Amino acid sequence: MGSDRKQKGLTTAFGVPVGDDQNSETAGARGPVLLQDVHLLEKLGHFDRERIPERVVHAKGAGAGGYFEVTADVTRYTKAKFLSKVGKKTEVFARFSTVGGEKGSADSERDPRGFAVKFYTEDGNYDLVGNNTPVFFIRDPMKFPDFIHTQKRNPSSNLKNPDMFWDFLSLTPESIHQITILFSDRGIPATYRNMNGYSSHTYKWYNEKGDYYWVQYHFKTDQGIENLTREEAAATRGRDPDHATRDIYDAIARGDYPSWTLEMQIMTPEQAKDYRFDILDITKVWPHADFPPVKIGKLVLNRNPVNYFAEVEQAAFSPSNLVPGIAASPDKMLQARLFSYHDTHLHRLGPNYHLIPVNASKNAPEQNYQRDGFMRTDSGGGGGPNYWPNSFDGPSPDISAKDPSFDVSGKADRHPYSYPNDDFVQPGNLYRDVMTERDRENLVGNIVSHLSGAQKRIQLRQTALFFKADADYGRRVANELELDTGEVERLAHMSQEDRAKATK
Ligand code: NDP
Repeated sequence: MGSDRKQKGLTTAFGVPVGDDQNSETAGARGPVLLQDVHLLEKLGHFDRERIPERVVHAKGAGAGGYFEVTADVTRYTKAKFLSKVGKKTEVFARFSTVGGEKGSADSERDPRGFAVKFYTEDGNYDLVGNNTPVFFIRDPMKFPDFIHTQKRNPSSNLKNPDMFWDFLSLTPESIHQITILFSDRGIPATYRNMNGYSSHTYKWYNEKGDYYWVQYHFKTDQGIENLTREEAAATRGRDPDHATRDIYDAIARGDYPSWTLEMQIMTPEQAKDYRFDILDITKVWPHADFPPVKIGKLVLNRNPVNYFAEVEQAAFSPSNLVPGIAASPDKMLQARLFSYHDTHLHRLGPNYHLIPVNASKNAPEQNYQRDGFMRTDSGGGGGPNYWPNSFDGPSPDISAKDPSFDVSGKADRHPYSYPNDDFVQPGNLYRDVMTERDRENLVGNIVSHLSGAQKRIQLRQTALFFKADADYGRRVANELELDTGEVERLAHMSQEDRAKATK
């Protein structure tokens, strides 16, 4: 084990030499222990506070440092400085994770994988907080806490519960695309090195002139996609529940640095206007044929964390960390994430989490009028002015850092999604056109092994959704679950409301 401490002598937290770290100070050889043993009190007191709140999602993860290198000229699309020149390298820190499990859960669970990258740019930190899937289960953030609860433990039994999982999803038909990807073999990547990372959301890039483009990011693994079958995953869980954490750490330690090629899909506002579906809808992909991905850079991870807690557990990514040249889109899920990630870090790490070295902006100093708070570990603005405007030479806003303005209009209301019946098109295409027969067999088997644990009425309701994506898909799941395929078909032809009533 390495140590970065310079002194060899053991000290208290305040640097005072410790004379004995094996025997508590007691009255007589057999105790009791004396309150004046301040070294013992300090040691226990700190130990009692070692754990910080676990992330409510993405609790189990692995991280590494490295760099991003630009390989194509994208200056006509974005003025982001870290993307301004071919060959330019920017330091990064990346974290990969499962979603629903606790901090000690197994790496080989069927679950989306988080794929988060922090770029330490000269314009401050830019975080891209994506997943290994290009789509998501829901498109409205109002549903997010409910959705996550269904992936967690039953409030009574404290067990994962197929009824909760499938009840919610079968009542949330927009989840069918993500469910089809999650239950394909891509639902359990062999390692973190063998999966892609996607922004999933649409973002906005804008150039020096203020022209903007809609973009989606695809980090394609250079190691190749590799997945585990459910049998392999079960065996892996037993053999080594931390296999993916170990895999990436060991690969980097032996100099086998994992890398990903960044490809962008880029769309003009004109193309977006009349496109056949809402390009901001996170349950959809942009077809490659219409928006061919363009290679623009490489992500390389070549540095293991020196201390897991310092760098990985305390790493805090937020989609709200954007830099000039890159802006959010109106995607409703993204809009909520702009709030929620920062908010959860304030809870988990405190108001000054941005000072923790892994989160601190390395290449652009923090200069503002935010002051004080728990654990402000630097001089906190020193003696400079703590208000704006001021005439004491304090930091001033730079108009060139402003996002370009854009038009919005419409009625304030709780608007439901307004493109009916298109939730089933893309999962159907995936099933029919992209998957091999082997993929389809595994998909159906993976679904059945999980959905069979839910109540029959929920099985029927969910299988009707598979049928709506593709009749063969629905029939195969129905047959393996020994459901009446006629009943499934009848349910598939009902409205979502009627189907929910019929399967109550
Ligand atoms: P394409 O044939 O051009 O793209 C299909 C893509 O599907 C592949 O490039 C690959 O994505 C991905 N893929 C392959 N096997 C699987 C699998 N078992 N599970 C999930 N994804 C897989 O067609 P389209 O662009 O028209 O997309 C067709 C369907 O492919 C979509 O409806 C969507 O379900 C899926 N898909 C599309 C993506 C996109 O951005 N267009 C991205 C991922 C999936 P990759 O190259 O990223 O590995």
